[in-house]
Amino acid sequence: MRTIRNIQEMLNCSKKAHLQRKTIGFVPTMGALHEGHLTLIRQARKENDICIVSIFVNPVQFGLKEDFKQYPRPIKNDLNLCRKQGVDFIFLPKTNQMYPEGFKTFVTVEELSNQLCGKFRSGHFRGVTTVVLKLFNILQPDIVYFGAKDIQQAIIIKKMVKDLNVPVKIKIMPIIRQHNGLALSSRNLYLSKEERKDALVLSQALGAARNLINTGVKDTQKILSLMRRLINTKRTAKIDYISIVDSDTLKSIKVVVDNCLIVLAVWIGKTRLIDNAEVSFPQFYV
Ligand code: AMP
Repeated sequence: MRTIRNIQEMLNCSKKAHLQRKTIGFVPTMGALHEGHLTLIRQARKENDICIVSIFVNPVQFGLKEDFKQYPRPIKNDLNLCRKQGVDFIFLPKTNQMYPEGFKTFVTVEELSNQLCGKFRSGHFRGVTTVVLKLFNILQPDIVYFGAKDIQQAIIIKKMVKDLNVPVKIKIMPIIRQHNGLALSSRNLYLSKEERKDALVLSQALGAARNLINTGVKDTQKILSLMRRLINTKRTAKIDYISIVDSDTLKSIKVVVDNCLIVLAVWIGKTRLIDNAEVSFPQFYV
């Protein structure tokens, strides 16, 4: 496994791979890798000649009061995990190379970026799409792997790729959870013991929504009010939003339809967690 910090060096390696007619599978991450990331990496490894993982805590997608500084950076452990998965290249760009002085260009997917998390994290998705497009240009991947855990992010990136004719294929992989239902996230590291218990309420609320839908309830207000009641029973929980949305527009819908998404963002103490589930008729999964 080769670790690359320099943008030009990474670009040269990607170009060389393409000249040799090798396909590149790419997994962008912010590190603090867990089984959710490793599932994406294994898929990229399996489906491509070359597997590249980037680890970059992108300052541009964090708000001023957010956790950029404290975001976990266990780089040695991350490198070991990647080595074990047979990753070929780890790209670890430096912030001042990604955003040199005078950097002025940003990519925004309009409307989708202002919904849901975008309402609470102003500028977040603009930061995400900008860094992701930069990484695509540097790595020139054939297939890029994203997790459904960050479903709004994945939908926005798909839209950017379509609108800007970016020649990559986007694959969205299912959410990986602990046995108790908690969706894996690097931010779970922030949770205390009590908060870890309370955090289970996110997937439990999605499960309760599933059960209600399975009994034939389609009125989204009824489903959301049940979820809200459940979440509010937890001392440390504070809801940013819960919504049932169309999976193309991310706009709220009144009646549950096939392939719509139940999405939520909830603070557990000082940690903001997100989770979601896709409704698919006749079967529904969390
Ligand atoms: P991050 O390092 O948080 O930026 O995540 C990098 C990628 O891993 C994103 O595409 C995430 O959606 C994905 N990911 C994070 N957690 C999970 C999870 N529990 N299951 C599946 N994918 C995940």
